[in-house]
Amino acid sequence: MGDTIKFMVDTNVGKLARWMRMMGYDAAFFEEGDDAEMISKALKEDRVLITRDSHITERWVTTSGRLRVLLVESDRPENQMREVIDRLGLTSNFEAFTRCLECNQTLEARSKETVKGRVPPYVYRTHSNFLECPACGRIYWRGSHWEAMRRKLGKFSRLTPNLDTDKL
Ligand SMILES: [Zn+2]
Repeated sequence: MGDTIKFMVDTNVGKLARWMRMMGYDAAFFEEGDDAEMISKALKEDRVLITRDSHITERWVTTSGRLRVLLVESDRPENQMREVIDRLGLTSNFEAFTRCLECNQTLEARSKETVKGRVPPYVYRTHSNFLECPACGRIYWRGSHWEAMRRKLGKFSRLTPNLDTDKL
């Protein structure tokens, strides 16, 4: 997709990880360890840290410009996602599945025969393109759940941050 920005998603904005992966971005989710470990991992892997923790933005590593931090203000996931999209000007490649939503691994194409018996019969009959996560073994296809997420993300990126998300 030509956009190689990578992210580290803090637990306080954890819901964003799946949505960012859906958009095709490399979004690592930091679950275990303290802030110092999270920061050092973000630096080592050149990831923009997304967090709600304003203390992180006051640390020297951030003020000196070494660590890139996007401080999210909203407490609602929909608004958080919109903030991220607006402030970074993110675009997405919704048509391509690129990453596992669960573990952030790059998906690999699988032939239809390979997934036989591993997806519901109806899905097998009605789809021809499948991908598999090499890490967790999940099979992906462009089904209704994927469509719903895609539509929701499309709305996020079109609306302005001030709109009331209850109407979404
Ligand atoms: Zn996976």
